[in-house]
Amino acid sequence: GDWVEADLDDLEITEHEADTGPVPVVAIVGRPNVGKSTLVNRIIGRREAVVEDVPGVTRDRVTYDANWRGRRFTVVDTGGWDPDATGMNLRIAEQAQVAVELADVIVFVVDATVGATDADEIVGGVLRQSGKPVILAANKVDNQQMELEASALWALGLGEPFPVSALHGRSSGDLLDVVLDALPETPELKFGEQGGPHRVALLGKPNVGKSSLLNKLAGEERVLVDPVAGTTRDPVDELIELGGRPWRFVDTAGIRRRDRELQGADFYAAMRTRSALEKAEVAIVLIDASETLTEQDLRIISLVIESGRAMVVAFNKWDLVDEDRRYYLEREIDRQLVRTPWALRVNISAKTGRHVERLVPALEKALDSWSTRVPTSRLNAFLTELVQATPPPVRSGKQPKILFATQASTEPPKFVLFTSGWLEETYRRFIERRLREEFGFAGSPIEVTMKIRE
Ligand code: GDP
Ligand code: GDP
Repeated sequence: GDWVEADLDDLEITEHEADTGPVPVVAIVGRPNVGKSTLVNRIIGRREAVVEDVPGVTRDRVTYDANWRGRRFTVVDTGGWDPDATGMNLRIAEQAQVAVELADVIVFVVDATVGATDADEIVGGVLRQSGKPVILAANKVDNQQMELEASALWALGLGEPFPVSALHGRSSGDLLDVVLDALPETPELKFGEQGGPHRVALLGKPNVGKSSLLNKLAGEERVLVDPVAGTTRDPVDELIELGGRPWRFVDTAGIRRRDRELQGADFYAAMRTRSALEKAEVAIVLIDASETLTEQDLRIISLVIESGRAMVVAFNKWDLVDEDRRYYLEREIDRQLVRTPWALRVNISAKTGRHVERLVPALEKALDSWSTRVPTSRLNAFLTELVQATPPPVRSGKQPKILFATQASTEPPKFVLFTSGWLEETYRRFIERRLREEFGFAGSPIEVTMKIRE
């Protein structure tokens, strides 16, 4: 019969993606209403990015997969800013700065019918200093007469303005060719051993101790020179030797820089977190143990869960936690992290260095779990036994059977159960718990889906 319900195909795609490693990033920067969304739509060839006639509306969907002449890349729309907001110049500068940090190539969109505004000059200044490839797109050049206006944008000091009409598609293919030429050769990075150092995202709300921990881990002389610096967006990464091997802490430039006091930074904070996770295999989420868990902590944890990465939760500032509080803290943590009972936990003090060395075995364990593959025969033997001892609950008079199971992918492990009927959510969760007990997976998310034969 036909299989319905689940998605082995999707899982295979996921596995394929996990194997292809990092994809270059193109950031689109510019004032509101210059046509960024329209251009993004052109690039991705879908009407997916929302075109807003209201300037400054923050869009929550900001990254898109794109493909041009067989080359894959990610497009990031860094959004607009509210021109009426206080501290607008700061927001503008930060938007440009974020783009510089995230991207391999920046497309700076200017409205040629308006010319270079003060805001454009500010952005131009940040981009000129970045050293990243910048392509200046003179947009709304809908016809040849307009090209003259575009040439006025030479004044921005970013080289030749590239005239384009995002709305009508005029020259947009040529623009993409220029973007492709500027993309770095993506290194054939693979997760795991072949991929060189493991990649870690160090995450946490402001002031939780990320810089302190980084400094503690690195120690001045132990920061290694990055051999691939300058070839990709990796210059902002830091290689640190821990436990006898190098680890790549991704996007550390943003951690070291003190830009966190900027207002309205939540949107950018989430973008940075997502971007770091995309490049990483495992996340360290730092939590301030001397305070109660905040919404922001939980948001970061949610982003990690969403990303499917392995996770170590490090409770920092343990030196500030007294004996009395420790007991209650553990309880509170259990309650708060109920969605991620699998996350490995360590209690550390970045300041005193206490137990910082425990991070390495936790990271190693989490990564090990993340790439575990359970042989099909073992998986099925285990499930046969499990079902014999605890059969799935009967549903409308029928006893669903698990016919066969396979692990469709690793990083993270995903399992598919082929069944003769619907398995209740609680039963699937039971299977997940038992899988964890049997095969480990500490520190890694796992997924159990089913495929039903009708
Ligand atoms: P964003 O705020 O920078 O993302 O700008 P949008 O993509 O939302 O575009 C703002 C407005 O400019 C919309 O009304 C678009 O239709 C219009 N627009 C975008 N590109 C072009 C273009 O190439 N030519 C013309 N004439 N209008 C454009
Ligand atoms: P970031 O914003 O996450 O990079 O946090 P920082 O590393 O800048 O730390 C913020 C503040 O917390 C600084 O004053 C640090 O000295 C302090 N701090 C960091 N880790 C610890 C710790 O383990 N114990 C104590 N008592 N203070 C810490």
